[in-house]
Amino acid sequence: MAWLPTLIKACYFLAALLFILGLKRMSSPRTARGGIVWAGVGMLVAVLATFALPDMHNRGLILVAVLLGVSAAWWSGRRVAMTAMPQMVALYNGMGGGAAAAIGAVELIGYANRSITLLDGDRFTADGAAPGTAQLVLAVLGALIGAVSFSGSLIAFAKLQGWLDRRFVFPGQRTVNMLVLAAAVLLGVALACGQLGFALIAAFFVLALLFGLMMTLPIGGADMPVVISLYNAFTGLAVAFEGFVLQNEAMIIAGTVVGAAGTLLTQLMAKAMNRSLGNVLFGSFGAAGGAAQAIDGAQKPIEAADAAVMMAYAERVVIVPGYGMAVAQAQHKVWEFAQLLIARGVKVKFAIHPVAGRMPGHMNVLLAEAGVPYDLIADMDDINPEFPATDVALVIGANDVVNPLAKTDPASPIYGMPILDVADARQVIVVKRGKGTGFAGIENALFYADNARMLYGDGQAAAGQLVAELKTLDT
Ligand code: NDP
Repeated sequence: MAWLPTLIKACYFLAALLFILGLKRMSSPRTARGGIVWAGVGMLVAVLATFALPDMHNRGLILVAVLLGVSAAWWSGRRVAMTAMPQMVALYNGMGGGAAAAIGAVELIGYANRSITLLDGDRFTADGAAPGTAQLVLAVLGALIGAVSFSGSLIAFAKLQGWLDRRFVFPGQRTVNMLVLAAAVLLGVALACGQLGFALIAAFFVLALLFGLMMTLPIGGADMPVVISLYNAFTGLAVAFEGFVLQNEAMIIAGTVVGAAGTLLTQLMAKAMNRSLGNVLFGSFGAAGGAAQAIDGAQKPIEAADAAVMMAYAERVVIVPGYGMAVAQAQHKVWEFAQLLIARGVKVKFAIHPVAGRMPGHMNVLLAEAGVPYDLIADMDDINPEFPATDVALVIGANDVVNPLAKTDPASPIYGMPILDVADARQVIVVKRGKGTGFAGIENALFYADNARMLYGDGQAAAGQLVAELKTLDT
């Protein structure tokens, strides 16, 4: 069996290759499904290779855990609604961080068991299995980051699921958070220096978990996506560190890839929300103070028949989908409506805000599912200059991402967030059920604008009415 270690290494290399290629394929909606399968196969290869490790113990117990995990993931993955995907991602992400922290805990406790701390506080002598300083430092770092990601992701999950009040703020919060982090880091340094007592290890984990909780509790409103991708990066990093500790190549590569992808996504999201990374880490974000600007005027309703006429005789129509389109699963009807407009010679485009919906790429996925060609889909930066020359902007279930208060009201929680400049279009039609607010829970000045009309109704029903009305018109 001398060839077994080589075979296992080859499998890890193959798994890492599949992770990287899978991730590459996930970067386009065209190839994303295949990318997920590739990465999944990579994970299967890595798990099977790990089972073959010669010094692997408790294979039976691990198998039971794997079966439980697979069943839970299979069941929840099939049941979860598209709109609940962000909390699902937060939960899975938390599991990854928790697993990395658990590896760190097992390693540290293992070192503590094997060690005899010398009276002079020097590094321990052990039964020939004392870890190097680098190994201890990496175990501690992975455990710290993984534990923060674990408890933070659970809070993010609870918030997105609506189980927790959106924001928890108290005076001096930032200082308290920094003190908790400093205490966790100090204990981590002591552990890395070989002071491996059980009480110290337990206190270290309690503080790390507490910091994750406290860091996430004040976060509300528009900044949740940044936090989730930040924890995603944390989890990757934690897994990579623990991979070094276990000398497991697949973990190192997978963790590095996830960490890098998560970091890039965090930067992208932070830019889309106009937050600096420092603010994301230590600010109480989405929590602007002061009184919100009062909005004058009233919302003016419109009937589907009139809205259909307006768009049928327009030259350019831009459709802006948002979270409400996802809830209503209206993407197919919306695309049917757009096709009818195109057949009449109307120039139609879809405008996508980077955080429209409840997860990065949410709208792209829905539009791709409905079969909307990619060349009709425009990003925020490309479409914004086109709104002044747009006859009608049709907003379907979007709210925060088209709210002009983000530009004009410094007291608004979304102040500074770049928006789609829908209000610049000649006419705006907004489809939503009533006067409900969006994710940030604030009023939208667009709905009261002179050029805006409200088409009240469920997204799918309203799009269906528009289709029916359009079909009754002469070409
Ligand atoms: P919003 O959440 O701001 O608004 C959605 C609107 O849809 C509501 O005003 C609601 O009004 C309407 N709506 C709800 N259900 C329906 C339905 N069945 N039919 C028609 N309309 C409906 O959505 P946006 O996409 O504009 O903004 C996304 C928000 O989510 C941002 O604040 C963003 O920061 C946040 N977020 C984004 C994430 C991401 O990664 N993309 C992750 C987490 C949060 P009414 O009740 O009156 O119908």
